Amino acid sequence: MTTNAPSSFPIARHPRWIACAILVPTLLLSFWFTTQVTRIGDRQEHDRILALAQTVTATLEPEQVAQLHGSPADAGSPALGIVRRELRRVRDVNPDFRFVYLMRPAPDRPGQMIFLADAEEANSPDYSAPGDRYDGPSDELFEAWRSAQAQVQPPHRDDWGRWVTAIAPVRDAQGAVVAVLGMDLRADAWNATLARYRAFALSICALVLLLEVFFLLGLARQRRNAGQLARLNGRLAQQVAALERAQADLTLADAVFRHTGEAIAVLDPQLRVVRVNPGFERITGWRGTAITGQPLPILGEDLPEIAPQILARLREASHWSGPLWAQRAGGDSFPVDASVDAVREAGGRIGNLVLVFRDVTMQKRLEDRLRELSQTDALTLLANRRRFDEVLEDAWRAAMRSGAPLSLLMIDVDYFKAYNDLYGHPDGDRCLQDVAAILSESVAANHPEALLARYGGEEFAVILPHADRAAASALGETLRARVEARAIAHRGHPDAGRVTISVGVSTRIPPHSEDLDELTASADAALYRAKQHGRNAVVAGAPAAAG
Ligand code: GH3
Ligand code: MG
Ligand code: MG
Repeated sequence: MTTNAPSSFPIARHPRWIACAILVPTLLLSFWFTTQVTRIGDRQEHDRILALAQTVTATLEPEQVAQLHGSPADAGSPALGIVRRELRRVRDVNPDFRFVYLMRPAPDRPGQMIFLADAEEANSPDYSAPGDRYDGPSDELFEAWRSAQAQVQPPHRDDWGRWVTAIAPVRDAQGAVVAVLGMDLRADAWNATLARYRAFALSICALVLLLEVFFLLGLARQRRNAGQLARLNGRLAQQVAALERAQADLTLADAVFRHTGEAIAVLDPQLRVVRVNPGFERITGWRGTAITGQPLPILGEDLPEIAPQILARLREASHWSGPLWAQRAGGDSFPVDASVDAVREAGGRIGNLVLVFRDVTMQKRLEDRLRELSQTDALTLLANRRRFDEVLEDAWRAAMRSGAPLSLLMIDVDYFKAYNDLYGHPDGDRCLQDVAAILSESVAANHPEALLARYGGEEFAVILPHADRAAASALGETLRARVEARAIAHRGHPDAGRVTISVGVSTRIPPHSEDLDELTASADAALYRAKQHGRNAVVAGAPAAAG
């Protein structure tokens, strides 16, 4: 997606090679350039000195020079005086001039030069008299004599310092060389010119090098910036991808938020409504726009009591769940299964709460119905044996706490096997339903707190809290009498000819009694005795021995 511009050129991947490829040729070229420019300066000085020497020879009088023989005999001659004056004038006119003199080859000593005239004073230690031998004549000197061409010896050092020596032939009117003029000049101007040219060349080279260094630095900086840009682009791409994922998650979360059947409310930490979903509005009847910023309305007056419990739990675990009673906008309450999750901010502080709940009215009704069914006898619609056991245990515990008496009545239909045999099982069932109805009616009328249960088969039982032996016996008698009074025909009953019941009564005051089983066993025993006594009877068991 992104390209690193410098790396798209192969050489640009090796910045050191670029630096070498640019700087090394530049250094070589600088050396060459400086040499060339210095050479131009050298040439210029050479030509200047040459011109100077030729000018000087042009000012000399050749006929005077031609009269000099280079022997001590010339001393005092007018020609020598004129020539020496000329030479002094030349020397004095230019402060750079050191020695100005005339020479010619020695006629009797081949390879040597002798002085003809010298600009120095005769008493100067540097004065050379006519005929004096010139030390170390150079090739240029003989060349100038032979070729009649002026010569320049580039700067050299001798006993008197650094000099440039110019040699120029002096010709007579016929063009014949009559002497050679030697001029020793200070090399300062020559050297200064060379230095100026060299400095100029070096400045140009330094400038070029500086520009190249700037260029390379710019290149390096561009590379670095391009690298940073590439890294930034990479990070940006990652962040964009993360944002796109987050966007997709948000879209999904929003779809769930809007379309879920459950109610969702986003709350602030004070349980004020921030936002609710359509499910919340549908279930509770509250409009989101009306309750935004308001305390959560579904808890009604319970809010001050419930909120601290929920918040305390969230501070520890970030999650709370449990059943609640919620209030609709219309005022009616309904059960909900709710959960609250805390959404924490970066510092760990609770930023928002998300309440999710669903209406469990139907589920609760179903559960209640199932529980009822599981505790109800299908034939008589009385409490069944399981319910009986639970209630008896509760009653026993309550009696243990209160110390009040607890009575139990065991009821059995007399000769019921014979009833079935005579009238058939279906009629037997109907008979059991009739007996159950009579018992239920009587118990409810006399002892609303009592529980009547179908104990099993044609047996019933009554749990009678807070009733002593006498009260329990009295209820037993009432039940027995009501059943008999209903006069349900039972031809198989040898005594009464109608349906009767036998009742065994047992009463216990728990702290003084042994246990619950003993209460049941005692009631059973009393019922057995009632059967023994001829049935259609109520027998109360003996109270337990005080322990
Ligand atoms: P007793 O006076 O000694 O109690 O005599 P009984 O015949 O009632 O005694 P038994 O316990 O021997 O008989 C109980 C009968 O009750 C046996 C059974 O056929 C009948 N029975 C038990 N449950 C039901 C029921 O749900 N429907 C019908 N129709 N009969 C039942
Ligand atoms: Mg029985
Ligand atoms: Mg029976």
